Parts: sequence; C-alpha cells; structure tokens
Amino acid sequence: MSLKTEALSRNWLAIWCTVTCSVGMNFLGNSFAWAESAPASWRTGPFICRSAFPEEENARVREVLSEALRDVKETLELGRLDESVEILLFADRASYTRHLKAVLPSVPYRRAMFVKGRGPGQVWVHYQPDWEEDLRHEGTHAVLHASLPFVPLWLDEGLAEYFEVTRDRQVDGHAHLGWMQFASHWGYMPSLRKLEGRSDLADMRGRDYRAAWAWVHFMLHGPPPARDALQRFLRDTRQDRRPPMLSQELTANVPSLRSAFLRHFQDHAVTKRRLHARSDKFGLVKRLAKLP
Ligand SMILES: [Zn+2]
Repeated sequence: MSLKTEALSRNWLAIWCTVTCSVGMNFLGNSFAWAESAPASWRTGPFICRSAFPEEENARVREVLSEALRDVKETLELGRLDESVEILLFADRASYTRHLKAVLPSVPYRRAMFVKGRGPGQVWVHYQPDWEEDLRHEGTHAVLHASLPFVPLWLDEGLAEYFEVTRDRQVDGHAHLGWMQFASHWGYMPSLRKLEGRSDLADMRGRDYRAAWAWVHFMLHGPPPARDALQRFLRDTRQDRRPPMLSQELTANVPSLRSAFLRHFQDHAVTKRRLHARSDKFGLVKRLAKLP
C-alpha cells in the first residue's frame, strides 16, 4: 500500500476496523465450533491461537503477537496479564463475515474486532494485506483489557493506534504524525476533555482516533511529567483505584501544557523533514480546514 493510500485510508480504517464490544452474551460458546474446526491451533504466551491463515503465515503470527505483547507490556509497565486471550484468524473476509453475523448479528461489519464479554477476550482478524496491523491493533486492546479492570475508550483506541505499527515506526513512522505536526504549526491542540467525554464507540470519529493517538504520543515521548501522569493513571487503574482524569493530571503537572503539546509536534525533526518532502500532496491544508 502506498504512503498516500495509507494516509488517506487510515481515517476510515480507524472508524470501521476496530471495536471493543461489551457483550453480555456467551459469544465464546458460539465461537467454539469455528475454533474447533480451525486447521491450526497453538498457544503463544497468553494467546490461544486458532488459525485458518495460509500455513506459511503462522510463524509470522507468532512473531507479531510476541512483539505486540512485549511492546505494550514494556512500554506501559503492565506486568502479568490476568487472563488469556483467544485469537481467531479467519481465512478470508467471507468466512470472517459469516462468523460475525452468526455470533454478533446486530454489530455492523468491521475489518477486525476485539470482543470481550464476561470471560477472556477474543481477537478476530481475517487474512488480507494489512492483517499484521489489525493483529497488533486488536492485540493491544486484548492486552490492555487482560491487564486492567477498565480502560477509557479514548485511551484504549489511542494506545491501539500507537502500537498498531512496528516498534521502529512507533515514534516517527505513524501516518498520524505528519498530520499532527502540520496541525500543531497552526496552533491546533485537540481537546482531551472532549475525548474523555466519549463513552460510545459510535461517537468516535476519525479525527478522535488521531487526537487520541496524539495525546498518547505526547505522553510517551513528551515531557517526563506527561509520561509520569500516564504511568500513574495506569498503575492506579490496575490497582482498581479510580484515578483522576488524565486531562486534570496533565494540566496540573505539565508546565504550560498547551505550549508543551504544540512544541512536542512542531519540533519533531524526523517528521519535519518528511512533511517538507511531502509538501501538501496529501491534501493536509484541506483536511486542516475541516478541523473543529
Ligand atoms: Zn481499536
């Protein structure tokens, strides 16, 4: 996929390819028949995999899951997962869609899903050119929900967006970065308070996913007090204490938060060079004009 196609399609993928479903039904039982018929099954750490992918891809599946687990746990200092996760890997879109309709008939089509009911979560991914990105994204949801008693929607999606690319691209290789740096030069800082108000996936627009990613990137790679605020939030959540909103924590602990946020993206040297090279061929000016 070309860079341009990737950058433009991300908005739509972000809206439609990911969801964390809180379902009350016993979908695990409904998935049992499919899982039993999968040509390959194995366990990788906390992941129980059932695969109908081409056989030669299963080694790469193991690597992607191990890398995703390592990246999320190490970066966020999550410690041991409290439960296992089942990974269902469908041979193609048709078999994935049949399963989605059979198990969750009221849920609209999304390219991949993380589904969590009462028991351990399930990741559903089907074989197509971007399956690795889907597996990392949904795998991130799975690791978060297997480690924490709750995850705010915006943070859940922001972290999944951040970790959906390989480790070497997480700091300066995500398609959202060029957009955010361009927007920061115009003084745009997305509202974290607004993101914190999103409680339903249907309320999350493409720009919300980018904004959530931007706040995660700022907290992980911005000033140390911002990273401390995120770590404190995750630690308190893991211990089942109700932490203060991250917007309050960041405002209280990061001096001149708005300036620090804007400077974080404006001064990003790698992105600066890329943005210059791209000029405006991605239509960034037009997209910026649509900002709220
Ligand atoms: Zn997601």
